[in-house]
Amino acid sequence: MENPCQPYARTVRDGGRFVRARPTRTRELIGYLVACPNPETLHIVCYPDPILSVKCAPIETFDASLAAVAEKMLCLMRDASGVGLAAPQVGLAIRLFVCNWTGEPEGDLVCVNPRFLELDGVGEMIEGCLSIPEVEVTMRRATTATLAAADIHGQPFECSGEGLAARVWQHEADHLDGRLITDTMSATDEIANRRALKQLESDYATNSKKVGRR
Ligand SMILES: [Zn+2]
Repeated sequence: MENPCQPYARTVRDGGRFVRARPTRTRELIGYLVACPNPETLHIVCYPDPILSVKCAPIETFDASLAAVAEKMLCLMRDASGVGLAAPQVGLAIRLFVCNWTGEPEGDLVCVNPRFLELDGVGEMIEGCLSIPEVEVTMRRATTATLAAADIHGQPFECSGEGLAARVWQHEADHLDGRLITDTMSATDEIANRRALKQLESDYATNSKKVGRR
């Protein structure tokens, strides 16, 4: 079956406002350009799209287009039955993530420029990622967290959480620094996920060729 995720090249073609993303130290993505397209065109991008490895830039402008992006991300997250989605997962290298681990509409949370004030405890849990379908990795993370962020209007807030909330925040914050659950796999997880990752790499290469031909 063809992977439904589209390569990032399509988002770039949508045009719009361009921002220059800072490259990560470990991966040379100098000059990587990020489009800020019509929110309706946003879609979840999949591993191994290079946008997922970029260190995202802080957000300085809080406007209607940012709010529309966050709203669309919440829709995409819900449609995919996820509990969190970070901006690079929709092709935007900006420090924004949305999450909802409650399953209730009032549980939607938008975090802009998030940073951890405190991380405590340690626990392991199997995690998946909307950008890496069919892959599951046991992740060791802090069990409680206090997060400082801005809301979609730029108003600062702090929140504390434990268990799933703390885990989702850490998973999504990792995305903003270009870190994926596949970056720290144990040998066991590497073997278990090898086939799925190879399939994603193959799907990405196929989709990239299709976009290139257009
Ligand atoms: Zn993820």
